[in-house]
Amino acid sequence: MTLVIAHRGAWSRARGSPAENTLEAFEAAIELGADMIELDVRRTRDGQLIVYHDARVKAVPTSSLRYEAVRIKGTRSHPPLLADVLALVKDRIALDLEVKEPGYVEETVALLRSSGFERCVLTSFLDEVVREAKMLAPELRTGLLIATGLRRALTTRLPASRADYLGLHRRLADAAGLDRVADAGVPCLIWTVNGVRAMDRLISHPAVEGVITDRPALALERRHRVAPRDGEVRTPPQSMAPRTQEVRMTEHELREQVALGCRILATTGHDDFVWGHVSARDPAGRGIWMKASTFAFEEITAEHVILVGFDGEVLAGEHPRHVEWPIHTGVMSVRSDVGSVVHSHPPHSIAIGASGQPLLPVSHAGTMFVPPDVPRFTKTAELIVTPALGTEVASALGPRHALFLVNHGIVTAGSDVRDAVIRAVLLEKAAHQQLLVQGFGGAQRWSSDDEALRKRATVWSERQLSALWEYLVRRVEPGR
Ligand SMILES: [Zn+2]
Repeated sequence: MTLVIAHRGAWSRARGSPAENTLEAFEAAIELGADMIELDVRRTRDGQLIVYHDARVKAVPTSSLRYEAVRIKGTRSHPPLLADVLALVKDRIALDLEVKEPGYVEETVALLRSSGFERCVLTSFLDEVVREAKMLAPELRTGLLIATGLRRALTTRLPASRADYLGLHRRLADAAGLDRVADAGVPCLIWTVNGVRAMDRLISHPAVEGVITDRPALALERRHRVAPRDGEVRTPPQSMAPRTQEVRMTEHELREQVALGCRILATTGHDDFVWGHVSARDPAGRGIWMKASTFAFEEITAEHVILVGFDGEVLAGEHPRHVEWPIHTGVMSVRSDVGSVVHSHPPHSIAIGASGQPLLPVSHAGTMFVPPDVPRFTKTAELIVTPALGTEVASALGPRHALFLVNHGIVTAGSDVRDAVIRAVLLEKAAHQQLLVQGFGGAQRWSSDDEALRKRATVWSERQLSALWEYLVRRVEPGR
């Protein structure tokens, strides 16, 4: 059964009703029982992500106004901040976020991640916005909005932007258009569907994943009439979901996992005497389980993994704490999708970081990270020993999973120890590979962005990662 998507919430122009794109309209859509809310995201001059439709406020571009100056038409109230909307609707309804302009995709993705928002699709009329979102967050569901040119959208724009959905203007959603979409196997959302006849036709069409409507109550009622027993409602998109851990690890298992990650790093070029560390988020929220200092990676067992609070206090474990704990707490405080962080000093990664050269996808390993290029932290090459520096490292990492600390080392992140450690292993391998290419006079050819992204999905699929991890574990624990 087709999803009913409340266009800018459940609102109307009638006096006393909620206005579009407001917290009240979103609350009303949830109360009605809509499946999703569609909303518009813009950025103000002072860098606030806001939920607001119009490109201009009294002829002045919204993007050139400070948040303070943007007022909802006819009222004195501000449009809501996207962060407040996410907090209001989290775990209650799915969202279709339409990004109206380029330039703030990374911030939007970072906000979705830091607020742990998983049920959403990011859509835009702009191919480059959709493409960038997919590059930054391959797991994020995306949609390309089109009002004309269905044929070209299907043959060219959709593959190039790697969108998962098409958002079709209802004009394009005639029988022939929907046939074409169905043949291409692309799920589509139709906007804006307000008439009863159009609703009835689209709600019962198998190619239509959802209808975006200003009249969600009517659409829900029509759906009930048109398709009363037509099985289950489609599931709204689940994006950004970290890999589910069916069984939550016990404390001991988590310590073993961190220790295992350390021993694997010892065998993959990350050994730097007693320096470098792996951490995992404490499931009870007390802090992080982290390798203890004064030991080398290969010496670590569960007993050498200590619990460090977000303020740096050692809460459990006998061994001393590394001074660079703020790298781990800094990243984990702002990235709810991250469950594990690695910091190490691998030589080839340090060399490429210092060279200023971009990391190129000259091999399989590079495609795990590029495009876009791996970010670099250049504020200081000294140790990251304060929470303020930890926060700066986290902001240099942004929504990504790998970072060069220039003239120092690397930071990688993952939803669990496996993913963070594999990224550290592959980053060093990619840097090493690129150095070898330099020996032959430099790279003449490397994967295009499109090829690299395809390889990220195939070469580094969940199946491959899991086989790689099992092998890495067997290598350090023969007989397992
Ligand atoms: Zn370090």
